Amino acid sequence: MKTVAILGSTGSIGTQTLDIVRKYPDRLKVKLLAASKISEKLIRQVEEFRPQFVYTAEKGYIEGVEVLSGEEGLERLSELDIDIFINGISGIAGIKPTYLLLKNRKRLATANKEAIICLGEVLKDRYSEILPIDSEHSAIFQSIQAGRKKDIKRIILTASGGPFWDRKDLSGITVEEALKHPRWKMGRKVTVDSATLMNKGLEIIEAHYLFDIPYEKIQAVIHPQSIVHGLVEFVDGSIISQLSCPDMRIPISYAISYPERWETGAKFLELFEIGKLEFFKPDEERFPLLKIAKECGEKGSFYPIVLTVADELAVDMFLKGAIHFTEIPFIVERILEKADFKKPENYEDVIFIIEETKKIFKNLYKTAGGKIA
Ligand code: MN
Repeated sequence: MKTVAILGSTGSIGTQTLDIVRKYPDRLKVKLLAASKISEKLIRQVEEFRPQFVYTAEKGYIEGVEVLSGEEGLERLSELDIDIFINGISGIAGIKPTYLLLKNRKRLATANKEAIICLGEVLKDRYSEILPIDSEHSAIFQSIQAGRKKDIKRIILTASGGPFWDRKDLSGITVEEALKHPRWKMGRKVTVDSATLMNKGLEIIEAHYLFDIPYEKIQAVIHPQSIVHGLVEFVDGSIISQLSCPDMRIPISYAISYPERWETGAKFLELFEIGKLEFFKPDEERFPLLKIAKECGEKGSFYPIVLTVADELAVDMFLKGAIHFTEIPFIVERILEKADFKKPENYEDVIFIIEETKKIFKNLYKTAGGKIA
């Protein structure tokens, strides 16, 4: 029996993780659920899975369970004796738990790419212990096992391209349109990132830190069918890849069951039904964030952190209806232009850069009546 902690339990990754737990009551036991706040959904999860602990950012009470909260609660959470911690938190909110769990050498399966990126410069020597949940990185993690690291020629991340990859005119896109992902069921932030191709830019940086592969060996390709999730090319010319239906339960389950494989309830691939697999070069003119992200990755130092924070702030404004879809890259670029910090050497430096980037954003975009002034 494996004990499991689920951070971000009410989110997209969290609820799909609980689907797997529900399937294997004899193999998995939830010991902790964590969410930003106490909600009806969280209370229902507590009633169903009966964890010993709940963590929420703000203090609260739920009958029959010990509720940890605040900074102190987070410290305690990260020291709990639990077999595997699943981090399904969206965005930079997941940085502190990621940091504490890695510092305490806990077994961590994570989909929280923003935390991996922001902590990359200061914690990457711990990253070989991470079990990746992000589907592309899970595919790379699986494919890499076919060879030796020194024999890798290239790793390729596939992108569905989101809803607009072949659309000429990106003006006038509504929030509703951007949230309609053609293939994947995901949270709001990552779905918008997917539509701007920023998601792939962030994933290139994530792959660089997770697998310790130089940027010139990482490539992104548009693959609208979302069947091939990631590929590893070796020096002999062989490419090894992982294919499956686009269903997050597969990478989540693999991170939990590794090195075993369990049934997930996901649909099996029917090759005749798919018929064809297509690959296209991403258009970096129309989707500048992909190029900007690669440049930030290559520059290293504080750039990936500023990029991550700037994007999260810009996407949030878009979701609130304060800016147009096409203004997301514009805002990210303006914040990057103003950013200048020393190379982060520890966790405190990372937090400093994050807070300063938020200040740059505030100074640039004083919001007035929901519109940027
Ligand atoms: Mn992904």
